[in-house]
Amino acid sequence: MRIAVFSTKPYDRQFLEAANGFHNFKLKYIEARLTSETVQVATGYDGVCVFVNDVLNAEVIERLSAKGVKLIALRCAGFNNVDLHAADEHGMTVVRVPAYSPYAVAEHTVAMMLSLNRKIHRAHNRIREGNFSLDGLLGFDLHGQTVGVIGTGQIGQVVVRIMAGFGCSVLAYDPYPNPEVERLGGSYVALDDLLTHSDIITLHCPLTPETRHLIDAETLASCKDGVMIVNTSRGALIDAHDVVEALKSGRIGYLGLDVYEEEADIFFEDLSSQILKDDTLARLMTFPNVLITSHQAFFTRNALQNIAETTMHNIALFAAGKSAENAVGSERVKR
Ligand code: NAD
Repeated sequence: MRIAVFSTKPYDRQFLEAANGFHNFKLKYIEARLTSETVQVATGYDGVCVFVNDVLNAEVIERLSAKGVKLIALRCAGFNNVDLHAADEHGMTVVRVPAYSPYAVAEHTVAMMLSLNRKIHRAHNRIREGNFSLDGLLGFDLHGQTVGVIGTGQIGQVVVRIMAGFGCSVLAYDPYPNPEVERLGGSYVALDDLLTHSDIITLHCPLTPETRHLIDAETLASCKDGVMIVNTSRGALIDAHDVVEALKSGRIGYLGLDVYEEEADIFFEDLSSQILKDDTLARLMTFPNVLITSHQAFFTRNALQNIAETTMHNIALFAAGKSAENAVGSERVKR
């Protein structure tokens, strides 16, 4: 199997190389994202291996198929960037890594909550400047707060367990409730009730047409004044323009973003010598109560190892003509 591996950084190569040792697939590492501009690079390969910001729309899939590419191996759980109908139409197999470490993402989510509340990012900067004052750093006890978890799949469940451990009252919303969540200390409620009663709202649902801009001016109008919103799921779950307005009005008191709707050309790159052209992101970066990380929640060595091993396993099953246990078909688009 010859695989063109897009969006690869040195750390991806390190883990993929180790996982490929036994399989010995021919991997071509490409730093660029897969888009309609770079799809040409996939000429001569049987499969492409891609990540969260690669673009696999109908046009790219058609062009991949015309080159004989039969496999799309995602190195992530989310598949919102793949046109699954187009892949089906062209008889292409799409596989993903459904679970590589829910703990990595859940723990980063909680790190964001703690940092925002106790203003660790501001305290760190201050102390480096020799400013040891506490003014403006006042936080609150997490114990006793109400935390709303939207989406209680693998990551959401771990967040429920951690927040219940802090002594929070945990509300949950998911169209497919899981009894385990109630056992962990969460209570399922309607989405409106979660929005109205939560002091902290954290997003762990996939990006679908239904969840796009789940947090916007309308839903924020139901939230408590000063609510904390954390999004480590997918950027487009939030309407960033509405969120800026809600930060200005004080409706949002704290915002933690590990993902951003327009992150594709920005996150994972060192742009420190360039002019940032995204005015909304630039505005978000000015608020003292906004903490942004660059799609980093998954980034633990445990997760990278699991991603690499499952990806190689997925490719090996495909190469052996066996049914792909981690396949995603177009029927999944409905979820
Ligand atoms: P999962 O599939 O296990 O869980 C998703 C849950 O969302 C499911 O229980 C599903 O029923 C629920 N859901 C579906 N539609 C919903 C809706 N309209 N409202 C509320 N809930 C809904 O997925 P997971 O592994 O827990 O991952 C969750 C998301 O986290 C992924 O979709 C991905 O976008 C994101 N993610 C981000 C990172 C990162 O590094 N920031 C890493 C991994 C995953």
